[in-house]
Amino acid sequence: MVWMTDADKSCIYVNQATLAFTGTTLPQMLGHGWRDTVHPDDLVPLEVNFEHQHDDRSSLRAEVRNRRHDGEYRWMQVRGQPLFDPDGTFRGTIGLSLDITEAKRHESELARMVTHDNLTGLPNRALLESLIEAAIENARDEGRKVPVLTFGVDRFQTINETQGHGAGDALLGEIGRRISLIRHGHEIAGHLSGNRFVMIGEAGASTENAYRAAARLLDLCRTPFRLNDVPHELSASIGISIYPDDGADPGELMRAAEAALQTAKQLGGNHFAFFDRDLHGHAKNRFDLETDLRRAIPAGELLLHFQPKVSLPDYRLVGFEALVRWHHPERGMLPPVTFINLAEECGLIGPLTRWVFEAVGRQQRDWIDAGLSPVPIAVNVSPREFLGDLLQDHLAAYQQFELPERLMEIEITESTMITDFDRVCRIVQGLTDTGIKVAMDDFGTGYSSLASLNRLPISTLKIDRAFTKDVDWDRASRAVASAIISLAAELGLDVVAEGVETREQLNVLRTLKCTVVQGFLTGRPVPADEAAELLRHPAPVPTARGLI
Ligand code: C2E
Ligand code: CA
Ligand code: CA
Repeated sequence: MVWMTDADKSCIYVNQATLAFTGTTLPQMLGHGWRDTVHPDDLVPLEVNFEHQHDDRSSLRAEVRNRRHDGEYRWMQVRGQPLFDPDGTFRGTIGLSLDITEAKRHESELARMVTHDNLTGLPNRALLESLIEAAIENARDEGRKVPVLTFGVDRFQTINETQGHGAGDALLGEIGRRISLIRHGHEIAGHLSGNRFVMIGEAGASTENAYRAAARLLDLCRTPFRLNDVPHELSASIGISIYPDDGADPGELMRAAEAALQTAKQLGGNHFAFFDRDLHGHAKNRFDLETDLRRAIPAGELLLHFQPKVSLPDYRLVGFEALVRWHHPERGMLPPVTFINLAEECGLIGPLTRWVFEAVGRQQRDWIDAGLSPVPIAVNVSPREFLGDLLQDHLAAYQQFELPERLMEIEITESTMITDFDRVCRIVQGLTDTGIKVAMDDFGTGYSSLASLNRLPISTLKIDRAFTKDVDWDRASRAVASAIISLAAELGLDVVAEGVETREQLNVLRTLKCTVVQGFLTGRPVPADEAAELLRHPAPVPTARGLI
């Protein structure tokens, strides 16, 4: 595009190409400025450039975005030459603008290819090293710690061999996608090579951020992976190193994290391990945690948090979900993902579940005795415990407090039904007969057939937060949520949407006629005393929080 402006920067000439670009006519252009076609962010640099030409007679050079007639901003390389009268008066500028959008795109694509991995689109080793370097530099002065986590799928080699390399690659791509979805705040995810991913955690005063990140990474395998169109339950191992404790530079930190990952694998997978300098990768971490967990129950280190379930559209408190926490004397408050698996593997899930049932019973009793009107509390029961012989004992631990059965709910997951569906039906029926409701947790992520739902006498479906998360903008998520809600209505079941974090999500769920929500928006999991406050104020839960 060729153009000419006067000393006031108004157009005095433009060529046909300019008119075609702007979608205007010559009379519309002449005498007018061009400011409104320039991207607001590029205006100041361009103005500065213009001013400079009169002062030092330099030519104009700039790269700016110009708005095309269809509204799209295109990158332009702008070159201008100032025009002066013989007496030196500035008269204007004659210039050329060249559309370089494609070249720009290529350039950034190239930069991305050099620094990002093809398979996953995540930062590659080279970029990761400089990102760790940068994170270290930021943390150094403030004396903070930076966690570096490596992540690998367990038995990846077998998958590659039995399912084919195509499936292996697709799996890595999917993991890359999931890792970028679970990233929080300033965390950085990358792909080293093959079955090796890296996450740089957020810097902090303690190693707590490492636990949180590891918990989320382990959680990432919770939903089965489709390989050659068949769902596969996979697990992963995680190794963690901490700057400055385990290394001073990216290389050392990544080596330490890799050594820790080997430790985690030796523990049988589905674990995370911290790098241990003294033991050079011995199973200390798991061993410690196991020993600690055995002691935790008698030592009273377990506690419950309660997350409110809130009805729509009237926002009443209709129940709590009991979520277990472990207040570890050295490691601080640990979330359940860090120890439920361990508890299952070392035979502690029975005592743990029993403890939860008893703690819920005692809590209800305390609240009732204190004159509060109770709401049902849901307990999570893992498949093994639900199908095992101890369920009656667990219930007895609750029933010793002589509470109405309707105050107890049990949440099970779809994987409970994989083994012996008829048996599950009988157990659920038995519970329902005594007045204990059973909810299907994380519904939509597993692969229970819809036909079987019909035969299973459960009372509630809980929509997994994977669908709630994008329900306000993603059509597919909304379709799934909507289908589950109608299905529940048809089958006469309650439906709870989990993980509601924003008003937008809430609004969509309300229009879809969802009847109960549970999520950070209407209430995080809170300790017993805060939960009691909610019981004490039967007003709509979120009024105080400005929700309605
Ligand atoms: P779950 O049953 O799906 O529990 C809900 C989890 O989602 C809780 O994590 C809760 O804090 C979190 N959550 C709730 N609202 C939101 C939200 O708006 N946004 C996000 N991002 N997250 C939200 P938590 O407490 O870490 O529990 C994790 C899992 O551990 C539970 O998942 C459950 O499967 C298991 N679990 C917890 N307590 C027990 C227990 O006593 N026994 C057994 N067997 N498993 C338990
Ligand atoms: Ca649950
Ligand atoms: Ca859930």
